[in-house]
Amino acid sequence: MIAIYPGSFDPITLGHIDVIERGAKLFDKVIVAILSNSSKSPLFTVDKRTEQITECTKHIANVEVGSFTGLTVEYAKLHNAGVLLRGLRVLSDFEKELQMAHTNKTLNYEIETVFLATTTEYSFLSSSIVKEIAQFGGSIDHLVSENVAQDMYHKYQNK
Ligand code: ADP
Repeated sequence: MIAIYPGSFDPITLGHIDVIERGAKLFDKVIVAILSNSSKSPLFTVDKRTEQITECTKHIANVEVGSFTGLTVEYAKLHNAGVLLRGLRVLSDFEKELQMAHTNKTLNYEIETVFLATTTEYSFLSSSIVKEIAQFGGSIDHLVSENVAQDMYHKYQNK
């Protein structure tokens, strides 16, 4: 069974990596799919995010990294994936995630959304929190992988 883990990953955090590691134990393959959404203005390009994710998931054999525009279910179908993997942190995630899962079900009934509850230590962690801290010069070493921390420090130093 192939699972797609779609998201913005701008940037990928230790919370995301935790979901990927656990997902990789449940499924034969996990494809981390970066949503290239033109309405958001991302900090990192899709190419940079691909490089970051590839680097910090290189210890997991059955993980691939890709990117897409458009509907997640179409991307899943294209890769013969039967599962959309998503993470749940707090109650506010639930409402949005449930709506998305229902919508995707109406678009393709064959594809199931599977949620993994966050590991307690990462329940507060989001890409926006990381960006906020880095922007003001705070340490993010405990929130992202080393390569991403370097990229973030570099990005904000040059601003
Ligand atoms: P999106 O813009 O699609 O929400 P994100 O990159 O923010 O993309 O998140 C992708 C997925 O990872 C979402 O399902 C989100 O709930 C989940 N996620 C994000 N951070 C964490 C975390 N700390 N623990 C568990 N799941 C998380």
